Amino acid sequence: MRRIAFMTSLSADMMRRLRHFGDFVTVPLAIVIFAGLAGLDRLPLMLAGIAAWTLLEYLVHRFVFHIHSQGRRLHQLHHDNPSDPDAERSSLTTPLLALPVGFLLIGAAGLEDGSAIFAGLLSGYLVFIVVHYAVHRWPIGPNSWLYSAKIRHLTHHHLENCNFGVTTIFWDIVFRTHARAVGGHIRSEAG
Ligand SMILES: [Zn+2]
Ligand SMILES: [Zn+2]
Repeated sequence: MRRIAFMTSLSADMMRRLRHFGDFVTVPLAIVIFAGLAGLDRLPLMLAGIAAWTLLEYLVHRFVFHIHSQGRRLHQLHHDNPSDPDAERSSLTTPLLALPVGFLLIGAAGLEDGSAIFAGLLSGYLVFIVVHYAVHRWPIGPNSWLYSAKIRHLTHHHLENCNFGVTTIFWDIVFRTHARAVGGHIRSEAG
């Protein structure tokens, strides 16, 4: 009985780890596979995929997670419990969301070009999950790029109507949703 209870708690713990950290293994693996299919000469298309990710990240965060009712309900869990990994996306849903995008891109642009753009999108996503993990859970000292990303994102958690970009502030500046801390005060362009 005790052995069964031990095995059950072990498999529950493994599933929890898989949900929290699976992306950090599967996404780099997928990047290697699709970058390999694309080939090095398609590096510009991969970079275009990374750039496209930053816009996708901004739009999904702003309009799906903060306006769409179902998306907002899920995202609110993270806003309420920023350092609780159970309140964030599950790594198990990433392949379900990403693979159709990959198939669509390859279907539309061909194996090499589609794989290059997909590898770029996945690379952008990988940077996003690493930066988001770091700003909530790593002790980050001042005077670093990550520290400014942390302040920017914590301002988003505080005000909610600004700083939707996590990997870059670029689209917040373009769409005038940029807020920054100046002398202990937050200056926001968001309405
Ligand atoms: Zn966050
Ligand atoms: Zn948010």
